[in-house]
Amino acid sequence: MRGLARRLPRSGRAVTVALAATLLLGAPPLARAQETGVALITGTLQRAMDDPGAALGQLRQQIAAARSAGDRDRLFWGHLALADLLAETDDRVAAHQAAQAARAWLPNTLVSPRERPWLDFYLRYTAVGPFVPAEHRQAQAQAREAARAAGDEALLCRLDLLDAVRHVELDDADEAWAALEAVERCGAKLGDAALQAYALGTMAPLAVRIAPQLRPEGYVERALQVLGEQPARHQRAWLLDDLGWALVNGGRAAQARVHFERVLALATAIANPSFTMRGHEGLAEVALREGDTAAALRHARAALRVADEQPALRFRRVTAQTQVVEALAQTLAEGGAAARSALAEAIERLRALEHAQPSSRNTELVARSAARGLHALGRDAEAYAELERYVAQMLGAQRAMREREAQRLQARYESARRDAENAALRQAAELARLELEAREQRQRALLAALAALALLLAGGGGYFARALARRRRLAELALRDELTGLPNRRAVLAFAREQLALATRLDLPITLALVDLDRFKDINDRHGHAVGDRVLEAFAAAAQRVVRGQDRVGRYGGEEWLLVMPGTHVGELPALFGRLREALAEQPVEGLPVPHRVTFSMGAAERVPGQGLDTLEALIAEADRQLYRAKASGRDALCGPALPGGAAADVLPNAA
Ligand code: GH3
Ligand code: MG
Ligand code: MG
Repeated sequence: MRGLARRLPRSGRAVTVALAATLLLGAPPLARAQETGVALITGTLQRAMDDPGAALGQLRQQIAAARSAGDRDRLFWGHLALADLLAETDDRVAAHQAAQAARAWLPNTLVSPRERPWLDFYLRYTAVGPFVPAEHRQAQAQAREAARAAGDEALLCRLDLLDAVRHVELDDADEAWAALEAVERCGAKLGDAALQAYALGTMAPLAVRIAPQLRPEGYVERALQVLGEQPARHQRAWLLDDLGWALVNGGRAAQARVHFERVLALATAIANPSFTMRGHEGLAEVALREGDTAAALRHARAALRVADEQPALRFRRVTAQTQVVEALAQTLAEGGAAARSALAEAIERLRALEHAQPSSRNTELVARSAARGLHALGRDAEAYAELERYVAQMLGAQRAMREREAQRLQARYESARRDAENAALRQAAELARLELEAREQRQRALLAALAALALLLAGGGGYFARALARRRRLAELALRDELTGLPNRRAVLAFAREQLALATRLDLPITLALVDLDRFKDINDRHGHAVGDRVLEAFAAAAQRVVRGQDRVGRYGGEEWLLVMPGTHVGELPALFGRLREALAEQPVEGLPVPHRVTFSMGAAERVPGQGLDTLEALIAEADRQLYRAKASGRDALCGPALPGGAAADVLPNAA
């Protein structure tokens, strides 16, 4: 109401302007008066789903009207909406300027504590400087606390969105996935189709990488369902573009063509240069993969022409320019009529683009394509140098990702009970492994690159398939625990998250269990670390023999394990516990007497919808609590919330 009172026109001129704006924008005065604050942002983004250009025009008029009326409140929210909209259309610099402009209209925060966190959010959301993950985490935690205290669900949802955006940018697939699921959930709760469609649309290309069996189409279809009858032409273009690339990257270029054609048509209908460019890039990629170099050149050059006319799109020229190089190289390699000078010039242009916009992604794209082009020109030494640069870039990115991952895990899970010693051990092992792996990977990748060079002689697109396969294999390596060969913490958590989402969607049971070896420190102390390691291997082997096909066990920490059992009720766990205990007892351990008498304790938790036991974090916390009870009961025991008797000893008496 405060906003409404302040918005009452103060002069005849203001009335005229406000009326004119109302007439111009064609909305009834009451509805427009109610479109305030957050609603102004959501309303704008809703319109932008169909035609961002039109939404931008309308928003600028709203801002102009607010300025004439001296309406600070609307000026503030209007600029935030502008920041959001500009970020949406890839213009981060202008978006950040808009967020900074909003600062000038920030109302007295003592009277209106809601505004400040929104301003802070948009300043971070549109930030252009280098991204520091640790700072991001801290800022997010603070912002969440403030939003929670204010009961501001809309802001909380946008904070999830920011997490998703950053993780996507950093290519951290499973973290991005979790954040996107959160956005989908809160978007649905808020009835915000734009947020939901963004989340589902981004999950499409990610799905293939999280789990190869997931179909990207499914997510796009769900996003299209959320859009329902709304025209949402821009959003549809975006979804279909994503779908197209998911198909291309999944080796199904032919099926992608129709989607990219539709992207182009939608972009033309709303005169949107960004998607016109994307449509052409997509079609150029399809043509490249199908060996139609003429069409590839045509589309890539069309994309470049669009970029040349749009300052905001210039930074995206790299993709299309690589396509020009690849197409010319393909023609030349096939003995076609492409002029060598045209190819040489295209390579120089590509390098200039990288020089003008240095980024790791550009280095990767440019080095890879330049290598192809130089090879086609017979300049193999230079081609090899570019390949080396490409490989170094890829390895650097992977290492950075793992370092971020390690930091994140530490930040999130370090609790008092998982003591410093454990963490130090893990870190040392991780560091040693990283070094070894990086060395091995470099050798392997160079060999693969050489093999790829040889393959280029055949002129096929096999190089890309191979590069993809290689990347997948390297990714798999990073998901296994070195000592036991079991999925590591990252992998088993990703699996748990995926299965929990599935169980929630289909309303199926799922149970998690944490296992901790009993008095393991004593084993280390009495028999030495090497024997301790043998015990860990023995447990891993026993666990793998015992779990069923759909279950998974992973190494959660030093001597802690996480079991993920989809389709299982906690009531089935005593049987599993008994089998695992027998299996471990039968498993010989080098360096320990027979029987070795190594035991473990287990805490279990089953998903219970609506009782706070429906997120991964809550389930793990519960399992941890139960594990603690099992330890307290004298160890060698199982505890779970729904197990009869409650006390661990009642479920399975301690070993005699
Ligand atoms: P409790 O029954 O209460 O769990 O006793 P505990 O001794 O098992 O408990 P604690 O968690 O204090 O000890 C865990 C020990 O596991 C500490 C650490 O030295 C050891 N550890 C962690 N990772 C490894 C590893 O990879 N190899 C070996 N040998 N030891 C490890
Ligand atoms: Mg422990
Ligand atoms: Mg222990």
